[in-house]
Amino acid sequence: MQKIKIGSHVKMAGKEMFLGSVKEAESYGANVLMLYTGAPQNTVRKEIEALNIEAGWEYADKAGIEEIVVHAPYIINLGNAVKPETFELGVSFLEKEIKRTAAMRSRILILHPGAHVGAGEEAGIAQIVKGLNLVLDDNEDDVFVALETMAGKGSELGRTFEELKMIYDGVNKKDRLRVCFDTCHVNDAGYRLAEDYEGVLRQFDEVIGLSQIAAIHINDSMNPCGARKDRHANIGEGHIGTEILKKIVHDERFAKIPKILETPWICEEGSKEKTIPPYKEEIALLLES
Ligand code: FE
Ligand code: FE
Ligand code: ZN
Repeated sequence: MQKIKIGSHVKMAGKEMFLGSVKEAESYGANVLMLYTGAPQNTVRKEIEALNIEAGWEYADKAGIEEIVVHAPYIINLGNAVKPETFELGVSFLEKEIKRTAAMRSRILILHPGAHVGAGEEAGIAQIVKGLNLVLDDNEDDVFVALETMAGKGSELGRTFEELKMIYDGVNKKDRLRVCFDTCHVNDAGYRLAEDYEGVLRQFDEVIGLSQIAAIHINDSMNPCGARKDRHANIGEGHIGTEILKKIVHDERFAKIPKILETPWICEEGSKEKTIPPYKEEIALLLES
């Protein structure tokens, strides 16, 4: 049987940069990892030369980490049809982020499709399509843009599989698109993952196709199905439950797909500061059969 590909998001900071990310993933017993190329909430980025990519991969080869995925920062909003500056910033940043992803030897860049910020769903989706075409039409890198399934908080787009399909339909280079399936978001979006895992996957398959899933975010949800909140819970401590999350981790159809935990860090006894990563224990728990 093939080894299950599982890991978590890890930091990339300090002097070691990518080397530090790999060491962190190794400490969790992970064989894949996800990182942001800088702070997720801003566009400040170090030069590619400062990311310590070579040393990181050398270490990764020995640690059995074969694959990494990159997550684009949240501030990219291709769906903004209201403020041209925001849209333009999103386009130019996405172009650079694809280059960085390729330089880091990752083939998957996860992107939140965008939010329409009041212009309406149709206008927002049209804007996302426009932005993706501006970026992808002139890009030949060996990188997929994986649109994340969203919780539908605020005016977020990509909540339903149909909305993601509309983006696919408008993009010229569809072969450059993939999906990142986030379990917390899918639950919050209103899909009954906990009660009807197979039914939700069947729906996804009918609208987009299971073959389009290139990454899976494994998170429990603090909120019930349909809440549109997007608050991740630790494994087994939310409304989805360990059983279903294990099912998706062990699902043979996703054997080749990296599964990434984005569950919250834990507070030490008596403290309110989240200082303890849960990933080592959660990965071990999810791997139990
Ligand atoms: Fe995300
Ligand atoms: Fe996610
Ligand atoms: Zn989330």
